Amino acid sequence: MFRLVCVHCGAEYSQDEIIYRCKKCDHLLTVKYDLDSIGIDKKEMDKRPLRLWKYKELLPVTREPISLQEGGTPLYHLKALGEELGLKHLYAKHEGMNPSGSFKDRGMTVGVSMALQLGKRTVACASTGNTSASLSVYAAKAGIPAVVLLPAGKVALGKVAQALMHGARVIAIRGNFDKALEMVHELCVTDGIYLLNSVNPYRLEGQKTIGYEAVDQLGCVPDRFVLPVGNAGNISAVYKGLLEFKELGWTDSMPKMTAVQAEGAAPVVSAIKNNLDVLVPELNPETVATAIRIGAPVNAEKALTAIRKTNGHALSVTDDEILAMQRDLARKEGIGVEPASAASVAGIRKMAEQGLLDADEKIVCVVTGHLLKDPETVIKQCAPPTEIDATIDALRAVLR
Ligand SMILES: *Cc1c(COP(=O)(O)O)cnc(C)c1O
Ligand SMILES: [Zn+2]
Repeated sequence: MFRLVCVHCGAEYSQDEIIYRCKKCDHLLTVKYDLDSIGIDKKEMDKRPLRLWKYKELLPVTREPISLQEGGTPLYHLKALGEELGLKHLYAKHEGMNPSGSFKDRGMTVGVSMALQLGKRTVACASTGNTSASLSVYAAKAGIPAVVLLPAGKVALGKVAQALMHGARVIAIRGNFDKALEMVHELCVTDGIYLLNSVNPYRLEGQKTIGYEAVDQLGCVPDRFVLPVGNAGNISAVYKGLLEFKELGWTDSMPKMTAVQAEGAAPVVSAIKNNLDVLVPELNPETVATAIRIGAPVNAEKALTAIRKTNGHALSVTDDEILAMQRDLARKEGIGVEPASAASVAGIRKMAEQGLLDADEKIVCVVTGHLLKDPETVIKQCAPPTEIDATIDALRAVLR
């Protein structure tokens, strides 16, 4: 049993209503459960394998879910990087290990299941890339059509390849992500298509399980949770989920929610710094980390609450810092991520260098998407393969 509740005015809507924002004040909606009657204790839950649907009592889906076995992603101890930074308990949750290679699958297994539960037969989204890849995958699994809008020329190659191969109707608009979202929102409202951007509160329900899993894997609540922030849905989702665990009495603390943005697209960082409640959009967001190249984060209101209520932090990193961390994760830890994903750990490096972290802090960085999502940015950073004649002498010579 759940209701949709406006985060601003508290207006409530029933679970059969198809609605993305509050009808009274246009603010964001969130899913509220009757936690007293969820009917399972944590010990029972912990007998199930670690993956997203382990937590089904805390998710809104009542039908058979459209699932490809998302979640259960590895939580790696970053030993080499932790030593370098003087942090003993530095971890990365590798969301690139989801079915389509990013955490968006958590939102989409729930979101597409909800589309069917609500009787919808076509789904759509605007995307910087991963949302479209994931929606295409889950729409394919559900056997329903998907429409995806991308900013032309600004989407990493692997993500476009996925959206095309899995059979979505892929449309590139001559404009940025924020414009694409505005257009798809209007299309969905007027044409009865189901919108699966992160303004959709059910997407965030799926994504909150990153927090659940990290707590279960660590055996405790980390002191700090660090996420790259674009539309700010994921950081809001993890905060909401961990608050539910606490309200259930399953945990007794909250991590400091820490947002890392790219310098050229950092409106959340400015809002925290300047103590604003309403953020000033960045009209021309620019960064190599295309997944967080967003000027007007849809979930800003929720994210600001998450950061402030947990005494968290918001900071920006440069493109060079992001790419340096992408290489370090790859070469010192064996973890291959796309640029946006490296932002979380790059942010931790910056905070450690500024003396803002405690050596004993348990820190979970979410690394959000797989290296292969953006092969072009990888190739640009690396020397090409050394080509030689096919003789053993040539091989020895080149290795000498
Ligand atoms: C979507 C995405 C993000 C940003 O998440 P938000 O919820 O929009 O803040 C970060 N990294 C990757 C790889 C993504 O796909
Ligand atoms: Zn409202």
